[in-house]
Amino acid sequence: MAEAIQYVCDKCGHSVVGWSDGNPYYIDEQGKKQYAYHPDHERLARCVGNDSDHLCLSCGAEFRVDSREPISACPKCGSDDFECTFRLDGKQCPSCKNGTFRIDPDYHCIS
Ligand SMILES: [Zn+2]
Ligand SMILES: [Zn+2]
Repeated sequence: MAEAIQYVCDKCGHSVVGWSDGNPYYIDEQGKKQYAYHPDHERLARCVGNDSDHLCLSCGAEFRVDSREPISACPKCGSDDFECTFRLDGKQCPSCKNGTFRIDPDYHCIS
């Protein structure tokens, strides 16, 4: 079961949704990366890696980081100040550089 959290900037209202388990994937017979979507447990069991959503806290770019090919810098601006979108609580908003991300208590989504 995947769980989502929405973070909202307390100054500008910029919001980012984070999923607890990212985007698990497996490699098919052709060697291509395929994402396993819920509730496909048979495919989930074959997963070899996970592309998790990240947010650059410097430029605000959203990108995925492959667990098998981790990166140490934002692909857009080169900053090393980025975070998984599921762990943004208390982080500075890259959109206005003034506010802080807080969990939106009204947002609840489970797939
Ligand atoms: Zn903001
Ligand atoms: Zn960046």
